[in-house]
Amino acid sequence: MYNEIKSGILYVVATPIGNLKDITFRALDILSAVDFIACEDTRRTRVLLEHYQIKKPLVSYYEYNKIKRIDFILRSLEEGKKVALVSDAGTPGISDPGSSLIKKTVEAGFRVESIPGAVAFISALVVSGFRTDSVVFEGFLPAKPGARRKKLAGLKQEDRTIVLYESPHRILRCLIDIKDVLGDRKIVVARELTKMFEEVLRFACVEKAIEHFKHKAPKGEFVIII
Ligand code: SAM
Repeated sequence: MYNEIKSGILYVVATPIGNLKDITFRALDILSAVDFIACEDTRRTRVLLEHYQIKKPLVSYYEYNKIKRIDFILRSLEEGKKVALVSDAGTPGISDPGSSLIKKTVEAGFRVESIPGAVAFISALVVSGFRTDSVVFEGFLPAKPGARRKKLAGLKQEDRTIVLYESPHRILRCLIDIKDVLGDRKIVVARELTKMFEEVLRFACVEKAIEHFKHKAPKGEFVIII
């Protein structure tokens, strides 16, 4: 498809979703070897790099500066530079701004290499006890209630395991919509995986999950499995 493979390389490097030890030897090698690292939050990435005593220039790449930064990163790849892309947690490109850069880099004909590691939804799915051979990952549902309920309505006939990401300030409203639209199904909510306050909450029905979070304010990061 492409006439030439250019020498610049974008490494898509998975980093931990909480526990700093969840990183591969290869990821550390690549982070040490590249010309610079494109990351969402430079403070968060610096914590990881300092832990592993890696000194590398960081370039912030997040939702609101990504257009400008994509140009800069593509120019760097054109010059033959090696660039690592990391996100705040897990694998870049999964429900984060990384996917836009990866798409443009592929379109520009550069090599893109995956350095695999943690992904929050896979970590949650494998401990859910639900079937894992046939799964639909929907990422974050829309923030607006109407659009969220419409998306859920489209999943009503879905017989695969459904996996969603959700933020603490929206999870209760999201659970209420799940119950209203999909019915009172069995559900697992995985919270703060690999961190000190990790919980895998298994509920016989969505109503029980709603009751739980009405009494205990949701804090941290969540994966919902239905
Ligand atoms: N790229 C990431 C990945 O590989 O999973 C996901 C990025 S997305 C912006 C962040 C969402 O992932 C959070 O809102 C939460 O739903 C989920 N998440 C990330 N870390 C988590 C953790 N330690 N426990 C549970 N969910 C987590």
